[in-house]
Amino acid sequence: MEEKHPPVAALWRQILEKTDGILPQEAVTNWLPRIAPVTLDENELVLAVPDTFTKQFIERRYLVLLSDAAHEALGTSYTFRLIIDPSAAKFAPADDMTPADVLLTAETSETPYGGGTSPAQGTLPLTPSPAANESAHAAAPDDGTTLNPKYTFDAFVTGRSNQFSYAMAKSVADAPGLPSNNPFFIYGGVGLGKTHLMHAVGHKIIADHPNKRVLYIASTDFTNEFIRSIREKSMDAFREKYYNIDVLLIDDIQFFSGQLQTQTEFFQMFNKLRDSGRQIIMTCDRQPQDVKDLEDRLVSRFSGGVVVDIQPPEFETRMAILQKKAQSEEIDIPGDVVTYIASRVDSNIRELEGALTRLIKYASTMRLPIDESTCVAALGNYLRGETGRRITMEVIERMVCTHFKVTSEDIRSSKRSNDIAFPRQVAMYLCHELTDVSWPTIGGFFNRDHSTVIHAHKKIQSLTSEDPETDALIKSLTMQIRGL
Ligand code: ADP
Ligand code: MG
Repeated sequence: MEEKHPPVAALWRQILEKTDGILPQEAVTNWLPRIAPVTLDENELVLAVPDTFTKQFIERRYLVLLSDAAHEALGTSYTFRLIIDPSAAKFAPADDMTPADVLLTAETSETPYGGGTSPAQGTLPLTPSPAANESAHAAAPDDGTTLNPKYTFDAFVTGRSNQFSYAMAKSVADAPGLPSNNPFFIYGGVGLGKTHLMHAVGHKIIADHPNKRVLYIASTDFTNEFIRSIREKSMDAFREKYYNIDVLLIDDIQFFSGQLQTQTEFFQMFNKLRDSGRQIIMTCDRQPQDVKDLEDRLVSRFSGGVVVDIQPPEFETRMAILQKKAQSEEIDIPGDVVTYIASRVDSNIRELEGALTRLIKYASTMRLPIDESTCVAALGNYLRGETGRRITMEVIERMVCTHFKVTSEDIRSSKRSNDIAFPRQVAMYLCHELTDVSWPTIGGFFNRDHSTVIHAHKKIQSLTSEDPETDALIKSLTMQIRGL
């Protein structure tokens, strides 16, 4: 099926063009440049990344969204397989890396982890030190910390899924360093608010105790900094930096998995900090005992304070989160739109926000009011997986026939008159756009060969961009077929 598969590099470029608005900005700037397309086999796209960290991170966080982008860009479902290829030189290096850094990256699996979760990620203590500045990738916000200013307790919506974690976080914030609360360990799935809650504790402690030094770091950045300080023989500076803080926020410690040297160093640091009454807060995507290849003594230390989990939000909480977000963006969103989104995006708060952002962006670009039909147009594809509706070629054919008042026999016949040929082309186009069925199978359904389908698709596609009437027709049929 050559026609369906442009060369892999071009295909990847097409996907990248669609990532905006589907993937969060930090993924687009920090992670996607580290991916190089390798091969395309059937519908499996093989992508190379330079190291295990990158692989795990992208797999956990962005793979689903990437396949959304691919679907959006190409109208076909692709599966993605990531492989590790340490010839990192062919990956776009981060701006602040010299060629020598790139080489070292390849050898040590070190990567410039800019921001996994928030644009504010990086390391920068309250009193910035040169060492900290060096590894900070985000520009320091005005208050001199890299805590995300949006991640406060006030902005955190609570419900059954996160109430207990929220309450515990507040009590930790009120009495940092209290042995019974130390460490404070938050675990839960992706996009459920772990980083947000951790930053909220940091903000509160800084507000109450302006002299306390709060340091936030992603575990991957910690590992990288540690490895770099071994290489540059600057362990003293590294330790001095960490031993002098009052509150350590360390994010996504599942990435310590298998990093034995880092674990040894962290174990010593942890004990030292905790024994001298400094607060440690950590997040993880699972409970301490479930992190693979994490030393037993660390598992037991991590479980030795307060361990809380965040569950996926229930419907009411999802509604409240959307309302709060709309409010903070000063945008009026009708209740039925909020309900529409909240009932369809149910696993992850990041995606919930993503859907809303996408809707707002779509409405403003297209100059449409934010109502349910704009919502359907903006999010139809995005929510595809959630609706559970299966669109088949039969459904498409039926809708098209009804609209044009022709019969299924007509459409599948050899008739070439325009009143039959045009509906047929529309139906073929929609089959490709709305299902995962291959060109030849679509052809078979309409008693044509695959090249006729491709031709029809091309024709309708160019008509939609040239002729507003066809464009409106296709949009309206699409909505009807989706049953929305
Ligand atoms: P995690 O660290 O668990 O992957 P984040 O803390 O990065 O998730 O949260 C993802 C997004 O969802 C962030 O923008 C965050 O502000 C938002 N969010 C998460 N939980 C809540 C909540 N309870 N109320 C409001 N926003 C939330
Ligand atoms: Mg996080």
